[in-house]
Amino acid sequence: MGGKLYAITSVGPVSSLHDRACELYYALRGGIVDYGAQHAEENGHARYGRTHEQGLYPEWSREKPLHFLGHSMGGPTIIKLQWLISIDFFSDTDHSDMLLSITTISAPFRGSQAVYALGERTDKPPSVRPFSVGAMIAKFVHVASYFSPFLPAVLDFHADARSLSCYTSDFWTLVKHLWHSDWAEGRDASPFDVTFQASDHREAHLEGLVNPKTFYRSYATCMTERSSVNWGFHIPRIKSVIYVPGLYALSRAMGMFDFSVVNPTPDCVKKSKLDSEYFENSSGSEVDTKGKTQEALWANDGVVPLFSQWHPLSCSTTHCRHYARALGDTSHKQDLAAVQSGLWHVYHIDDANHISLAPIWFGTSRQKALWREVGQWLRNIDVSSGFQQRP
Ligand SMILES: [Zn+2]
Ligand SMILES: [Zn+2]
Repeated sequence: MGGKLYAITSVGPVSSLHDRACELYYALRGGIVDYGAQHAEENGHARYGRTHEQGLYPEWSREKPLHFLGHSMGGPTIIKLQWLISIDFFSDTDHSDMLLSITTISAPFRGSQAVYALGERTDKPPSVRPFSVGAMIAKFVHVASYFSPFLPAVLDFHADARSLSCYTSDFWTLVKHLWHSDWAEGRDASPFDVTFQASDHREAHLEGLVNPKTFYRSYATCMTERSSVNWGFHIPRIKSVIYVPGLYALSRAMGMFDFSVVNPTPDCVKKSKLDSEYFENSSGSEVDTKGKTQEALWANDGVVPLFSQWHPLSCSTTHCRHYARALGDTSHKQDLAAVQSGLWHVYHIDDANHISLAPIWFGTSRQKALWREVGQWLRNIDVSSGFQQRP
């Protein structure tokens, strides 16, 4: 990272965006994680979580802002953090400008139909269908949380405020949770936050509106292509059966998902016809791509539909710019150098699944091109926003 300070934080992998954003804030600032009195009461867990004796960047402020980078749920977590900061949730001295840039990869900003395929009920979330994959994962999380004092950090579910470990709850409470999990079947958990119902609720409150001084960039991955049999539907490329069979199966279900079973009808479906014009700038000129937004409901990377990876809220000429080009393709230098804040720069990466770019390092030329590109983007931001002198 060229001598730059960087930090990697860990937050609750199955916790809600709210809880994850709070954990991220205090991991950086230091101190006791405070989820907020009202939130804690409404969601039946303790107000305070674990203590960070030493924050990763205690001097974090408007004068000393940070670049943020998130894969998958990391993306909406950072958006939630910026939103909580904007409403003075943590402190009235904080400011949205503390997030100098937000870069996301394969992030489910606007929900994903994958969560219904895994067990969330389409008509009554956060209820989970019994014996579904989601229900099994919930049981695993409770067992791991109960035995957490004896397990490695990789199985840390950050459940401190929920008193689930064997030091803070008895065995019969664990049995009760295995029968019915208040956490997994509550609104304060990541599966519910990935439903279209939860996304619509966030957007109704205008969560995800851009901050004028923050720089936004997203990488949207897609492993499917248009089905020749049913227009509009998408199917994963056949080679992915070998490399990522789990993602292939999920991708297939997502590519043919019937959005009409979701109740109430998601905004992304209601509005997709209205928002069917977005702008592509791959050749330096803006191209009308009418109709693609609706298809992007089914195009997916095996976990997240394409439209959801772009950015929160609908497309508009003042909210986003979309680019289509291969990673490492520097023939569009103008696009790469475009440093404009208060606007999402969206990059479509074709023939890539949910884990092709991150979080696992495969050492592929595409991954190397991605990190080179992100590094250059962050350096450009530092220069243009005055945090670093032009060399
Ligand atoms: Zn919570
Ligand atoms: Zn857009």
